[in-house]
Amino acid sequence: MTKKLQLIIKNAFYYANDTFLHGHILVDAGKIIALTHELPDLEAENVIDASKLHVLPGIVDSHVHFRDPGNPEREDFFTGSRAAVAGGVTTICEMPITRPPVYSTEILENRKILAAERCITDFAFYGAAGFENRHELQALTDSGVCAFKTFLHPAPKGREPEFTGLTVNDDGQLFMMMIEAAKTGTRYIFHCENYKLIEKMEEYLHETGCADYSFHYKSRPNIAETESVSTIIQFARATGCKVGIAHISAPEACALVRQAQLEGLDITAETCFHYLCFNEKHIDEMEPYAKCNPPLRSEENVKALWEYVKNGTISYIGSDHAPFIKEEKEIGKREGIWRAYSGMPSIECFLPLMLTQVNKGKLTLQQLCRLMSVNTCKLFGLYPQKACIATGSDADFTIVDLEKEYRLSVEKMFSKARECNRLFDQVACKGSVEYTIIRGRTVFSHGVVDDSAKGYGQYIARHT
Ligand SMILES: [Zn+2]
Repeated sequence: MTKKLQLIIKNAFYYANDTFLHGHILVDAGKIIALTHELPDLEAENVIDASKLHVLPGIVDSHVHFRDPGNPEREDFFTGSRAAVAGGVTTICEMPITRPPVYSTEILENRKILAAERCITDFAFYGAAGFENRHELQALTDSGVCAFKTFLHPAPKGREPEFTGLTVNDDGQLFMMMIEAAKTGTRYIFHCENYKLIEKMEEYLHETGCADYSFHYKSRPNIAETESVSTIIQFARATGCKVGIAHISAPEACALVRQAQLEGLDITAETCFHYLCFNEKHIDEMEPYAKCNPPLRSEENVKALWEYVKNGTISYIGSDHAPFIKEEKEIGKREGIWRAYSGMPSIECFLPLMLTQVNKGKLTLQQLCRLMSVNTCKLFGLYPQKACIATGSDADFTIVDLEKEYRLSVEKMFSKARECNRLFDQVACKGSVEYTIIRGRTVFSHGVVDDSAKGYGQYIARHT
């Protein structure tokens, strides 16, 4: 008796070499073993007929917060990864902001164990690179962190334990850290907002009696982001540190990044889909449920940001999935928007909304594959193990139906924090996730998550 393959995806229209090809994909032991025009006379444990569908490389989310351990009431690796696969995500890159943040190899090892017990998706981790743990950067690099992340401000009041080892408090510390990070060759990613400027804007807005929801975006104007990006660029030039800007939202900041890229500086920029699909009016309607940092900006900004997606300045797109419990948002209604926690649980809406943009003609499906999978993996050293439909790569696929029209619905979502998911509820979409496949195993299909895949996920180290 001949051995059965693990999976055959037949009649696939699949992404390869930045185009779409037609054929059959053969998978065994978690790897792609062949791409063929003729369907061979072989059996498989699972056969998917992908006629009328598109087979994308598994979507890789460059920016997630799963809060595990520390705040499992908000989300954990199991619930977060259920939401991820429902949104077509096969690998997550987790930000180090949890309790404790990932600022040492010991913490990283514990995080890997925890994620390996609970996560459905494969996972990579950022390392925290605050001034307190400047001696850990090489060890974290050797353990395979995909990048470093830091905040350019002290820990927010009341959230100190979530920010240990994660912050640089002034330009002096920042400069020293960039010298240290440059020695490791690991990319150093920053949350860019000038917090001193924001603090003063908040004082001013309080004095002038601004108490409505516009307080949030008025207190964090574009210049707060642009000034901060400018500092990173100057310091990168001086230190040779490879840098990246997380969730860029201000077109003026993108212009600086573009100029630096043209000059030859190794700088990347991530944006998030909510900066491309929503604007500041949504915070007036959705109240704290549309509060995130940087804030949603004006419609003119949204239009300008798209230009930087189209011309390639934006390197990749993440979700910035940031789950909270309802009360952490509701407090902003009772006591002022400045009291609400910032962020949205968005991982399962991320791909559907970007597929919708493809259908609107805002970007091509090839661009989407680059921005939500290929570029991310190339920059984080996960390619070609991930994000590559070719023989020998991991058999990760996100199979989508570009024609399906529906509305996103909180009731069908998997995130533990779905109650906070107001911004995306009932948004009309065209383009749906039909199958999510990780290393040959179907973990989501037609609205159902395979919960027996809890603990299936594996750690993916950055190849240097
Ligand atoms: Zn974030």
